[in-house]
Amino acid sequence: MRDAELKGIGMTSRRTRDRLINRLAQQGIESADVLDVMRELPRHIFVDEALAQRAYEDTALPIGHNQTLSQPYIVARMTEALLADGPLNSVLEVGTGSGYQTAVLAQLVNKVYSVERIKPLQEKARVRLRRLAIRNAHLKLSDGTMGWPVMAPFDGIMATAAPGKVPVELLEQLSEDGGRLVIPVGDHHQELLLVVRHGQAFSQEVLEPVRFVPMLSGVVR
Ligand code: SAH
Repeated sequence: MRDAELKGIGMTSRRTRDRLINRLAQQGIESADVLDVMRELPRHIFVDEALAQRAYEDTALPIGHNQTLSQPYIVARMTEALLADGPLNSVLEVGTGSGYQTAVLAQLVNKVYSVERIKPLQEKARVRLRRLAIRNAHLKLSDGTMGWPVMAPFDGIMATAAPGKVPVELLEQLSEDGGRLVIPVGDHHQELLLVVRHGQAFSQEVLEPVRFVPMLSGVVR
């Protein structure tokens, strides 16, 4: 991708991005690290060209296959909640989708492992991450309700699709020493949960009501 394309013009320009970041700060996002990363990251390359001029609105956008790239506020909120207790070494993301959240995480933690169940989405995400020269994100096509056992334990796990209840596999793959899971849960009424593990004890906090696509099982090639 040409450099100019990454920088953006008009509705994808620096000024438009700054406006979004100011708005996120007004909505209560406090982490300067998260805001800085989102200010620099070109969200417009994670959607189809026809939607690029809407990339810096604070809305979810379609990415095909009935899936959506989350609203920037939610991306920021979840990332901030995951990192609230200090830096993390390795993080698992369930639901690579466009790769936008993966790219945000990759700039804030050492290693990101991201699983996606829809192959065409994963392939596009891989291309985008490569264009951005992001090398610490590892992608896998699989059903993320199982987590990624061989890479566990994770200091953080973030799910960007909502299961009916928290999969026990994800709890098991959290680091015993303060591992953090941020996950939307529920069918019609979903809540964003933060679960923190200490040994075999799990504390749970409800962050806010949310609306995510469902976490589904199986792989689509
Ligand atoms: N983080 C993404 C959000 C994409 S929407 C982004 O920034 O664009 C949620 C994604 O979760 C979809 O791509 C969907 O296919 C995926 N998903 C749903 N259930 C899944 C599962 N069991 N395992 C892996 N990915 C899943």
